[in-house]
Amino acid sequence: MQVTLVILKPSAVQRGILGEVISRFEKKGIQIVGMKMVRLSDETLAEHYAHLLHKPFYGRIKDSMQAGPCIVMALKGVDVVNIVRKLTGVTNGREALPGTIRGDYSMSVQENIVHASDSLETAEIELKRFFNPGEIVDDSPHLIPFLYAPDEL
Ligand code: UDP
Ligand code: MG
Repeated sequence: MQVTLVILKPSAVQRGILGEVISRFEKKGIQIVGMKMVRLSDETLAEHYAHLLHKPFYGRIKDSMQAGPCIVMALKGVDVVNIVRKLTGVTNGREALPGTIRGDYSMSVQENIVHASDSLETAEIELKRFFNPGEIVDDSPHLIPFLYAPDEL
């Protein structure tokens, strides 16, 4: 089992599509093991988007991510890092395939609704960035036999 980080960006909160996006993860069979509403600080964002800090458009991304509160989520499942990236779609909402979250809800590269960790290593670092110890909980192990065969775990 893996755990990955998803951020529902301020545009998702403002547009009132949180329930629809969250229900996609739930319906897939991915378990929500952490979720809270936060405002992202300058420091947290600079760490989170360190790979884009030197880009001329970093200021725009920062403004967009601080335009309102975000929802941060910890999602659990077998191969969940990869599955969530697939459900999310490619970065540019205009190029993301229909059926993906970005493909169905976004017309933009920047305003693309969700962030999702891009590897298991990144997920571990990002989960620690947004969740304190004890904020990620998993109290529904009884569900597992209804989601997976024993040899898939
Ligand atoms: N972004 C942008 N312009 C770009 C590249 C990225 O506005 O040319 C924003 C966009 O919101 C994206 C985020 O920066 O989701 C992080 O970029 P990354 O390349 O990590 O894409 P992602 O992993 O989110 O698909
Ligand atoms: Mg990324």
